[in-house]
Amino acid sequence: MISISYKALYRVYRPQSFHEVVGQEAVTRTLKNAIKEKKISHAYLFSGPRGTGKTSAAKLFAKAVNCLNPQEGEPCNQCEACKGVQSGETLDILEIDAASNRGVDEIRDIRDKVMLQPSSLTYKVYIIDEVHMLTNEAFNALLKTLEEPPEHVIFILATTEPHKLPLTIVSRCQRFDFHKFSISAIMSRLRYVSDQVGIAISDETLATIAKFSEGGMRDALGILDQAYSFAGNEISLEDVHFVTGTLSANFLSRLIRELKEKNIANTLALLDEVILSGKDPEQVIKGLIQYLRDLLVFKNAPDLEEMQGRVLLEPDFKSLSEQLKSSEIFKAIEHLNKMQNEMKWSAHPRIMLEVALIQLCEQVFQEGENESGLWRRIEQLEQKIGQLEKQGPVVRQEAGFTPKAQSGDEEKRRLPTSSDLPLFRLKSIYQQANPKFLDRMLELWPSILELVRAKDVRTAAWLKQGKPVLVTEQAVLLAFNSAIHRESTELPENKKIIEEALLERTKVSFEIATVMLDQWNDFLAKHKELLKEEKEELDPIIKEAIQLVGEELVHIKNRRER
Ligand SMILES: [Zn+2]
Repeated sequence: MISISYKALYRVYRPQSFHEVVGQEAVTRTLKNAIKEKKISHAYLFSGPRGTGKTSAAKLFAKAVNCLNPQEGEPCNQCEACKGVQSGETLDILEIDAASNRGVDEIRDIRDKVMLQPSSLTYKVYIIDEVHMLTNEAFNALLKTLEEPPEHVIFILATTEPHKLPLTIVSRCQRFDFHKFSISAIMSRLRYVSDQVGIAISDETLATIAKFSEGGMRDALGILDQAYSFAGNEISLEDVHFVTGTLSANFLSRLIRELKEKNIANTLALLDEVILSGKDPEQVIKGLIQYLRDLLVFKNAPDLEEMQGRVLLEPDFKSLSEQLKSSEIFKAIEHLNKMQNEMKWSAHPRIMLEVALIQLCEQVFQEGENESGLWRRIEQLEQKIGQLEKQGPVVRQEAGFTPKAQSGDEEKRRLPTSSDLPLFRLKSIYQQANPKFLDRMLELWPSILELVRAKDVRTAAWLKQGKPVLVTEQAVLLAFNSAIHRESTELPENKKIIEEALLERTKVSFEIATVMLDQWNDFLAKHKELLKEEKEELDPIIKEAIQLVGEELVHIKNRRER
């Protein structure tokens, strides 16, 4: 249940004045000066990566520009206008999210109402978020308005992808580029919010959150928020690792040390331990890559600010960096990257990870002997993977299904199984599907995944393994390479979360259907054949020819010769 009074931290702690905005000084100084000198433009373009504060700055500017008693360009936060904006009661600040609806109606509405005077404020401010998502029609309508904006109107267009905007629009805007936040800017904001809420949290933990958020303030506050609802007023480093599904630096440095020392037994025991604690193999490999990358950066640029913090907090980090050669680290990253890609499509990621780690010991970290044992171990594991991949999904075995012994040279044609999506269902989705819907869905997919992740990290991890292949007006068909991922996505409670996210992002109540990639590819291959035939049958020239001379005399080349 979502409690009504609950508000995400990033909403509650939106900066109310420009001086509270950390990390975007160039932007805020310019905006403040514009207000101070009353040089207000009618259209602004705020561009930059997600979570860099574009919308917050837009709202702040909308308030400051309307403030009845501005102080050096800052809003007073006391007057009627400021209060109206802050409470969201004013009708003169309009926010449009171009991502969730492509804006045709809204922009038309703007065009119709833009001439009307503001109801209570000096300026009507339109904030259009993710403006690059507007349709061409909406862009044209917007352009008409931007060409001759009335005195009392300001547009603030925000986008993560400015290159997707028509130049005609960009050229009419005053542009501001927002940059990713530095680790220290994020940390200082997190510290401020923690103090306000009364959260006890160490600098090390804040630094870890800042690092995970990759320069996005909203993500950083989102993680703090999750950890807060999980752990309460005292948040430990473990809590953060738990809610983000990431691995602690302590674990990663231990693992790398064992790898370096070619201690396979300890390596696999460590892996066991972390997987039992609920992490999945992909998180392990991702964590390893990140840690090694940091080691490499530190070796080559030890003076970087973010690295200095690490050295102080993790004594092991520095000693590891001294023991490993740059070339070793580089090769290890390369190897793990490759395995990470392969793992995505494997039904047995854990065994692949074990192989990857053993190979890492053997081929990358040069010292030590004990080779023959290692190779035997690798061969055994590789055989095991081969067998398992042939047997198909583990779930089927558990259900009492005994896979037939397969001879190696057997033709690759697969037989339908009970877990296939019924053919009639697949056909009906196929017939109703619209490639344009699919394009749009693929565009939105990252943001849908994001939303699912916000609702439930676990479901997002399953869903991430699937790919939309067909979209109709009511259904989205997802193809999976692994039965485990597919079946976990299909669980009613997970399905519900995904369908809710789809509804929120698209405003359409889609139903999801899933299919194995094998079945999908088979179906597609067969269907293309059929389609070719149908097309030939429908060719009007052939039809006409048949009518004219009779069927016997019309020689349809492809069909006869197949
Ligand atoms: Zn004010």
